[in-house]
Amino acid sequence: MVNRIKKLHKSVSNRIAAGEVVERPASVVKELLENSIDANSSSIVIEIKEAGKSYIRISDDGVGIKREDLNLAFERHATSKIYSDEEIYDIKSLGFRGEALASIASVSNIEIITRTSEDEFGTKAELMNGDIIRNSSIGCPNGTTIVVKDLFYNTPARHKFLKSNSAETNYISTIVNNIALSHPYISFRYIIDNRNIFTTQGKGDLYSTIYTIYGREVAKNLIEVNNEDGDMKLKGYITNTSYTRGNRSLQISFVNGRYVKSKVISKAIDTGYKTLLPQNRFSICFLYLETPSNKVDVNIHPAKLQIRFRDERRVMDFLTASIKEKLLKSDLIPDINISN
Ligand code: ADP
Ligand code: MG
Repeated sequence: MVNRIKKLHKSVSNRIAAGEVVERPASVVKELLENSIDANSSSIVIEIKEAGKSYIRISDDGVGIKREDLNLAFERHATSKIYSDEEIYDIKSLGFRGEALASIASVSNIEIITRTSEDEFGTKAELMNGDIIRNSSIGCPNGTTIVVKDLFYNTPARHKFLKSNSAETNYISTIVNNIALSHPYISFRYIIDNRNIFTTQGKGDLYSTIYTIYGREVAKNLIEVNNEDGDMKLKGYITNTSYTRGNRSLQISFVNGRYVKSKVISKAIDTGYKTLLPQNRFSICFLYLETPSNKVDVNIHPAKLQIRFRDERRVMDFLTASIKEKLLKSDLIPDINISN
């Protein structure tokens, strides 16, 4: 007998696609935060309960979604961010695939409230299985609030793979911290189980953003780096040799505003501190590198943070030299200034 071919129902194909985009609560937080940033928000609130497993709420003051577009926003391959294939080569937004909302909606229950500045009233809608089951007009400020409830309730295999609440919360905090660090001009408020964790000022000041997220102890041990070499620019903060940690988790780097993981940068840091640190001790670094975009390959898979430099040697030498030079100078100045 010949097997007949059928097209999968939308809710099934979306759920399959969700497997790639939505791995854990932290991926939901990342996608929703990127949407809020793309929406030109200046203030974003992130609230999670039970490590995001039962409740994730992201609220922004961005451009909002028009009522008549709300259905489309939750359709796969529907996006307001690109209109033609040429634009793929010059993407300025964080998203563009039009997959996140459809994927998230297929594995959770969603409530959304949104309003644009053009509309007198906002819209409140509830979604189940990816479809809007109720919507109504509501008075609300401009912007968008999305609540994601009961993540993976209909995909038990996924649900079973989740780690403990503390492990999943850590994944989320890493995402929130890195996104807040890469957008100092946006104010982020982070709430875990009704407890305020931090609120960044959103005034563009890097030092105060780091201070707010990591606290006084880390902040007071930082020294500023600022260097330039041709078309490469580096700014950020590093610790002097007396303040170290047992791992690299606070070596955080951004290339052209994007959080990245790069072996080249880690190696450059190690070489910069070479012989100055005890074995298996690591410095803290917040490094922001700017380089022309045609000199880096960013793997644009949404979940991958990998990056490749065209001229690795040059990047490495530049970073190493910037760090070394700073450390040499800072040894002459025993005390650093603490603002605040
Ligand atoms: P993408 O971000 O790749 O376009 P998404 O599925 O994440 O795809 O979002 C679909 C569309 O919904 C976006 O293109 C945008 O128009 C709209 N949208 C999503 N979140 C927001 C938000 N917080 N504020 C305004 N518009 C939003
Ligand atoms: Mg998106």
